[in-house]
Amino acid sequence: MESLDLIIRSHRVVTPETIEPASVHIRDSIIVALAGWDEAPSHVALVDAGDAVVMPGLVDTHVHVNEPGRTQWEGFATATRGAAACGVTTLVDMPLNSIPPTTTQAGFAAKRAAAQGQCWIDVAFWGGVVPGNTPELAFLLAAGVRGFKCFLVPSGVEEFSHVTEANLREAVPELSARGSVLLVHAEVPEPIENAAASLVGSNPQDYQTFLRSRPRASENEAVALMVRLCRETRARVHIVHLSSADTLPLLRAARDEGLPLTVETCPHYLTFAAEEIPDGATRYKCCPPVRERENREQLWGALKEGVIDMVVSDHSPCTPALKLEETGDFLQAWGGIAALQFTLPVMWTGAQARGFGLRQLTQWMSGAPAQLAGLDKRKGRLARGYDADIVVWHPEKEFKVVPEDIYFRHKLTPYTGMNLRGVVEATYVRGIKVYGQGQFIANTPGALLTS
Ligand SMILES: [Zn+2]
Repeated sequence: MESLDLIIRSHRVVTPETIEPASVHIRDSIIVALAGWDEAPSHVALVDAGDAVVMPGLVDTHVHVNEPGRTQWEGFATATRGAAACGVTTLVDMPLNSIPPTTTQAGFAAKRAAAQGQCWIDVAFWGGVVPGNTPELAFLLAAGVRGFKCFLVPSGVEEFSHVTEANLREAVPELSARGSVLLVHAEVPEPIENAAASLVGSNPQDYQTFLRSRPRASENEAVALMVRLCRETRARVHIVHLSSADTLPLLRAARDEGLPLTVETCPHYLTFAAEEIPDGATRYKCCPPVRERENREQLWGALKEGVIDMVVSDHSPCTPALKLEETGDFLQAWGGIAALQFTLPVMWTGAQARGFGLRQLTQWMSGAPAQLAGLDKRKGRLARGYDADIVVWHPEKEFKVVPEDIYFRHKLTPYTGMNLRGVVEATYVRGIKVYGQGQFIANTPGALLTS
C-alpha cells in the first residue's frame, strides 16, 4: 500500500453513489482511495468518526465577503471561520459590496490582496458585469474569476450598477465565446416602481408592506427575460436566489428544452414564511423577499424535481446599525441575511422533515455548486483524485442558535433562537483539520482558487 497521510473512516460515508461504511485515504491533500472500513493500516494516522456522517465539504457559491472597503460589514477572516464551523470548505465571493468591486482587473487584484493569508477555507471569486466593463471581462477570466454576476435592478450600492437588456446583449457574447457563466439577480425595476404608489400610507414595520414593494412580477419578468436571452445566445445563465415560485413552469420548460440554464435558491426561502415574520423584524429582509408558506413548499418541490439545482447561502451581512432594528422600517433597512454558519443544519432540518436524504443534500450543497463554479474536477464529492475537503457531522444531534456561538462578524441573524438538527464535529480542507468541536486548529490554510 502506498504511503498515506491520514485516514478518516465512518460507518456513514456519503459518496455520489451510496452511503456506506468506508475509509477515506488521503495523501498530499488528495483523496487517493475510498477503501473498505477496516482497511486502515496501523502506521497511518486514523480519525475514526464512528457513526458520524462523513460527507464532502460544502461549496457555497454565493457569499458577500465585503472586504476590502466594507470590512466593517464582513471580512475574509470572519466569514471563512463561520463557513468552516458549518462544514463549508470552499466559498465563492460575490463581486459587489467590497470597494472596489470585482469589475476591473485592478479591483480583482485588490480583492486577492485583501484575501491573501486570511482564509480558513478555500476561496474563489466571481467577477461582475456592469455597464461599460465589457473590455475587462476577458482579462478578469484570464486572472481567474469563475464567472460573472450582474443585477437587473439597482444592487443597493452605487459602485455596482445594474445592467439593461442592451448592456447584456453586449456582454453575453464575450462570456459565451469563452464558455463562462452569467449569474443573474433576477428582478426587473418596473413592477417594483409600479408598486411604490400603492405603499403610500402603509406601515413600513409591517412585513406585508415590504412584500408588496417587491412583487413576484418583478422576478417573473426577469426570469422570462433571461430564458429568452439564454435561448437566443445559448450562453450559460444561472439564476441566483430564486424566490418566486411563479417562475417554476417557465424554468421547467426551459430545462426540458435543454437550455444551458441553472437555478439556485437559499435556505431562508426554504425555511421562513412571510405570514410568520414579526413586525419590524428587519433581520429577515432580503431581496427578492421571503414569500408565503405556499411559495416555500413549491420551492422544495422544485428542488425535488431538479428544476432548482442547488442551495447556497447568499450570506450578505452589514453592520447592525444599517438593519434599523430600532425603527423596524423594512423599506429603509439594508436587505441581506447573515447565515453562512448555519446552512447545513438549517437545510438538514428542513430537508429531513420533508423526507429528503443525505445524498440529495450533498448534491444540492456540494456537487451542484462545485459544477457551477467550474470546480467539479476537484471539489464537491468524495472520490479518488478529489481534494480531501470533508465535513464530519452528527445529523441526529440538535442545538440552539445563540449569538455567542457565531463566528461571522455581526451576530444579527433570523436563525437566532431556532433549534436545529445537525452538529458539525470537524471540517477538513485538503486533508488539514481547520475546525473541530468549537476550536479552530490549522491557521488559515485556505487557498485562493484562481486557476
Ligand atoms: Zn447576494
